[in-house]
Amino acid sequence: MKIITTPDPRLREKSTKVGKIDAEILDIIEDMRKLSLDWEKAHPYELSAAMAAPQMGVNKRIIIVRDDMADKKKATFTALINPEVIKAEGKIKTDYEGCLSVPSIYGKVPRASKVRVKAKLEDGTEVRIKATDELARTLLHEIDHLNGVLFIDHIKDVKDAFYEMNDKGDLEPVDYDAKIANNKELFPDE
Ligand SMILES: [Zn+2]
Repeated sequence: MKIITTPDPRLREKSTKVGKIDAEILDIIEDMRKLSLDWEKAHPYELSAAMAAPQMGVNKRIIIVRDDMADKKKATFTALINPEVIKAEGKIKTDYEGCLSVPSIYGKVPRASKVRVKAKLEDGTEVRIKATDELARTLLHEIDHLNGVLFIDHIKDVKDAFYEMNDKGDLEPVDYDAKIANNKELFPDE
């Protein structure tokens, strides 16, 4: 198992619902946790906040979300199976997003600041989550993956919206014409 990146077509598929939560599903979740932490080890300035199953080429409706996004030492993730956005509300806020499957590019993405999500936990329990701000953004980003949508699809004002991380871990604007405009990995159709 490895993390797949654009323009892999599996990132653009709609994932199927999980039926029975059996050993195969639990194995997929464990692989996701492991891959997220492996990725983080290779990216010292970044935190692996969440991941969706299609990012390792498995088109099933499963995401994992970090339990504590502020503390890298707390490396536990909650898995959400068949997560569904019940309501997205609040103000539209624009903030930076990155993605394990869109290497080294960050973008400023507008998202609803409040969201209600319904899902199942690994043990089959149904949960409803009310999230705001960073967690709301993360849930919307990951659920998008289950529908074949990437954060770059939400960026309309492309000229000023893309960033990359320098070797000190700071985000700097990307030279749009040089790195984005003709980037076939990001925008294969154009
Ligand atoms: Zn992503």
